[in-house]
Amino acid sequence: MRISQLQETLTQLGAKPVHIDRILRAWLKGRPLDAGPRKHAAAQTLPLTVRAALPELAQSLQNLATVVERHPDPDGSARLLVRLADGQHVESVQLPKAGVCVSTQVGCAVGCAFCMTGKSSLLRQLQSGEILAQVLCAANVKRVVFMGMGEPAHNLENVCEAIDALGIWGGIGHKNLVFSSVGDPRIFPRLLAGRVKPALALSLHSTHASLRRSLLPKAPDISPEALVDAGEAYARATGYPIQYQWTLLAGINDSEEELAGIERLLKGKYAMLNLIPYNENPGLAYQRPALHAIVAMTRRLNRAGILTRIRHSAGQEVEGGCGQLRSRSQVSY
Ligand code: SF4
Repeated sequence: MRISQLQETLTQLGAKPVHIDRILRAWLKGRPLDAGPRKHAAAQTLPLTVRAALPELAQSLQNLATVVERHPDPDGSARLLVRLADGQHVESVQLPKAGVCVSTQVGCAVGCAFCMTGKSSLLRQLQSGEILAQVLCAANVKRVVFMGMGEPAHNLENVCEAIDALGIWGGIGHKNLVFSSVGDPRIFPRLLAGRVKPALALSLHSTHASLRRSLLPKAPDISPEALVDAGEAYARATGYPIQYQWTLLAGINDSEEELAGIERLLKGKYAMLNLIPYNENPGLAYQRPALHAIVAMTRRLNRAGILTRIRHSAGQEVEGGCGQLRSRSQVSY
């Protein structure tokens, strides 16, 4: 279900924009669809035709996403395996401090060399309602990152609908909505044109165009320099720094030369760099660098004036790196 379809259905039932706002706000806050201020009880404000349709609508929304496995992690996060109404599965992660990471596609067409999700190719797009339903699977959310399975740029209109809904009716601060992309040039004008402008995380992974191309084989062919230029323009337009993502792969993109390249590209930019130690996976040959080397890189970059943090993928203690729960679920469901 798309949110635009839901709005259209409600309009056909006789709902005015004020009624639709109220219903969407109630849904995204996890309340009954007819909830509202006591002095404006549904019986007084919602048209009868709309009220009569709400139970069936509530059931359809409830069926959009169901948590079938929950794997808590000592870091305070929990990795969720979520079943969609058609029986497909996606993963989302409940993050510490009231955050959630959601999937935007079943599978992914980018095929990043270090990612299990990329191995399954794209199976289907998630509709905006299914993206929002994952948010509702994690209680009291104040931050949503679109970094689960899938490339949000390849499902841009559904992701933008979900972002608008969370910012307008879900009450989530716009800078706490984080759109993540391998760097599709189409996203920059589209996100700037939206009513709700999210923060942006861009996958960099290498400062060498050829290595980056081999790590992200089906990503748009944009040079690291052009990507950072586009990111800088977006950061200046929105007032939020870009988060550059760098999955650390031992012997691949952790050289002194790469660090010098990062310094060259990001110095003076309105940006921060997240170094993400690779989450080792028996199905893939990559390894993460030693912890002391990661700490030394982080210090080196911070000293050079690049705001750098080490970010561990949430939920890695449960052997649930992105795509692993779902790939196991293909056997068990
Ligand atoms: S890392 Fe993200 S963009 Fe790359 S294949 Fe995996 S899900 Fe797709």
